[in-house]
Amino acid sequence: MTIRAISISAEIDGIPLLSDMSLEIVPGEVLALVGPNGAGKSTLLSVLAGDLNPVQGSVFYNKRNIAQLDVQERAHYRSVMSQALPMVFDFSVKDIVEMGWLHNGQHYSSDHFKTAVQQIVDQCNISSLINRRFNTLSGGEQKRVHFARALLQLWKCEDSLEAKYLMLDEPLANLDIRHELSLLAVIRKAAASGIGVLIVLHDLNLAAKFADKVAMLNQGRIVGVGVPEDVLTTNLLTSVYDVPVNVKPNPLTISYY
Ligand code: ADP
Ligand code: MG
Repeated sequence: MTIRAISISAEIDGIPLLSDMSLEIVPGEVLALVGPNGAGKSTLLSVLAGDLNPVQGSVFYNKRNIAQLDVQERAHYRSVMSQALPMVFDFSVKDIVEMGWLHNGQHYSSDHFKTAVQQIVDQCNISSLINRRFNTLSGGEQKRVHFARALLQLWKCEDSLEAKYLMLDEPLANLDIRHELSLLAVIRKAAASGIGVLIVLHDLNLAAKFADKVAMLNQGRIVGVGVPEDVLTTNLLTSVYDVPVNVKPNPLTISYY
C-alpha cells in the first residue's frame, strides 16, 4: 500500500512544469521534497494530491488510479496543507479544525468526533486558540490550525488498517522554533502510527535529520531520491543550488555560508 506516481508530466496553461517524475510515498515514512524556488515542489504535491491532473503518467493510491477517485474519496485517503493558506470567511478556529472531520467523511454525531478533536487540539497545542476568530490569528498560528485540520481529516479508529497520507507544503514557514519542533514531533508521531508523509522543506539540515527519504527536484525533474545521505551530497547540492556547500557526515550536516 503506497501512493505511487509513475512517469508523470504536468503543465499549466500549456507550460511544462513537471517532466517524467516517478515517486513513492510509503506508509510510516516521511518523504521530504527539497529543491530551489520554482523547482516544481508545489506542483508535484498538487498532482500527488489529485488536485492537478498530469498530462502524462498516473498516480495510484493503494493501487487505485486517482483518475477514478472523486473529491470525497481522495479526501478519505489524503489530507493536504497547501503553501498558500486559503483566505477564509469569518470562521472560528474550532470551525476550521472541524472541517477536517467533514472531509474525513464521518458525521459530527459519530462517537469518535469529540475524542478525535480533543486529541488533535492537544497534540497541536492550539487549545488556547480554539475560540478565537481564525482571521485574527498570526500567520504561524493559522498554519498550526490548518495543520490540526489536516490531521483531523486523517483521524481513524485504532482498528482501521487502511493507509492514509499527509501532504504538507512548507508547513514550517512562519513558525517559531518551539512550534517548529512540536509540529515535527507530531508529524513523526503520525508517521509512527502508519501515515505516509510528504513534506516540502527548505531547510536541508532539517530534511537530513527528520526525513526517512528525500526527493530533490530541480527544473521540473527529480534529480535525486533516496535516504538523506545519498541525496544531500556536495555534488548534487552544488549543481542544483549553484552555491558552494560543505557536507559533513554523522550526523549529516550541510553548511553553505
Ligand atoms: P516550487 O514549489 O518548487 O517553488 P512550483 O511548483 O510552485 O515551484 O512552481 C514551479 C514552476 O511553475 C515555477 O516556475 C512557477 O512559476 C511555475 N508555475 C506555477 N504555477 C503556475 C501557473 N499557474 N502558471 C504558470 N506558471 C506556474
Ligand atoms: Mg512551492
